Amino acid sequence: MKKIVMKFGGSSVATGKKIRHVAKLIADNANKDCGVVAVVSALEGITNQLIQASEEAKKGNREYIHKFKDEILQRHYTTADQAIKDKTIAQEVKQVLGERIGDLEQVLTGIVFVGELTPKSRDNVIAYGEKLSAPIVSGALNDLGVESVHLTGGDAGIVTDSNFGEAGLLMNVTKYQLTKNVEPLLKKGIVPVLTGFIAATQDGVTSTLGRGGSDYTATIVGAALEVDEVWIWTDVDGIMTSDPKIVADAKTIPEMSFKEATELTIFGAKAMHPRALEPARKEGIPVRIRNVFEPEKAGTLIVKDQKIKAKNGVKAVTIVKNVAMITVSGAGMVGAPGTAAKVFEVLGKENINILMISQSVSEANISLVIQRKLLERAVSNLEIALLGKEFIREVMAEDDVCVVAVLGAGMKGMPGVASKIFSAVAQKGINVRMIAQGSSELNVSFVVKEKDGAETVRAIHQEFKLSTK
Ligand code: ASP
Ligand code: MG
Repeated sequence: MKKIVMKFGGSSVATGKKIRHVAKLIADNANKDCGVVAVVSALEGITNQLIQASEEAKKGNREYIHKFKDEILQRHYTTADQAIKDKTIAQEVKQVLGERIGDLEQVLTGIVFVGELTPKSRDNVIAYGEKLSAPIVSGALNDLGVESVHLTGGDAGIVTDSNFGEAGLLMNVTKYQLTKNVEPLLKKGIVPVLTGFIAATQDGVTSTLGRGGSDYTATIVGAALEVDEVWIWTDVDGIMTSDPKIVADAKTIPEMSFKEATELTIFGAKAMHPRALEPARKEGIPVRIRNVFEPEKAGTLIVKDQKIKAKNGVKAVTIVKNVAMITVSGAGMVGAPGTAAKVFEVLGKENINILMISQSVSEANISLVIQRKLLERAVSNLEIALLGKEFIREVMAEDDVCVVAVLGAGMKGMPGVASKIFSAVAQKGINVRMIAQGSSELNVSFVVKEKDGAETVRAIHQEFKLSTK
């Protein structure tokens, strides 16, 4: 039997009408020859509302909790009524929703009483988004005549450590339990609808996998059950050669490797949970990104061994915004070992992540790129730690910059890619401030002024003919 995991994000299950559409997509694929496991996110916006509610509860705001309870109940009841035509099924689903929302109110009231919100209790609260969406999707399937049950990640057997908020997966137990709990359902032709994002610790306490974690749930399940493909349904056609808001003729990339896709998620191309590709890559399970509103399109297939080779090495060009560049300089740094170590130590202590590093061979300066919102803290700490020491003269900050990243596995060992990139940029009269190439040769990234970012991206997209490949 063929097996597929299908994951639907919050925007795909935002309303009852959309949930009916999702249920039809599942029903179209699930049959005696193809088992489907569905993984769903919370209704659009709900996770954020739950976070807000938990904060209000901590402040002791009972009134807010009361109003919130009514609102969340109303939204989910309306959604269920829209998604499910059969009155009896709708009633059964609403019964489950009512009970769970009652529990949620008790949890929030508990937080009001103790006036404390721990990572553990916070996970308990935000897990309700998925606990409320899964029964509706499952009910919509029943309504279409497809046998279905809903399970929480914990019920299904996804086990994590107790690092609440960003829990670490315990894959061996998880694989054992998922196989035991979920596989038999597929054999009976039942579609399990799993809550994305949430799991349980070994003691059965609810944990979460980090924001956007439903993608991760999908690949965990896919890897554990060794399915044929994991389909991530989203609201775009797949992974694109660039941001279509910047490059009008950006194209969907038909196929790419896990390495390339991981590189792209690092550079923030269409948020995907950073750990989500790991389980699939390890087990070699293909992941397909597809457009839920245009299911006839094939989307982007992410595979281990990629067949299509980009002719000239470059596959995508993206822009990373909200960054800032710091340059530490001073002639005395030349040949002085330990300067770089000192810089990294200072930033590391402050928990400031470095996105990009480069040092010129002259050794007279080191440039770094970090998130813009951390700039002030980074600079003041560097100044305190470094200035006045004989070898460093200046710590310079620029916050009107962006990073342009050019990606593609075909660039590896291919001479001339960098020169093509930079002559395309130079022809537009745009000045490049800093360059770095990972030794993986999967990407070349460089810094330009923020105002030049879009034009730079367009120039490279055109130079490598990314819209005609
Ligand atoms: N509902 C969770 C979130 O918004 C998980 C997900 O959507 O993947 O982060
Ligand atoms: Mg989401």
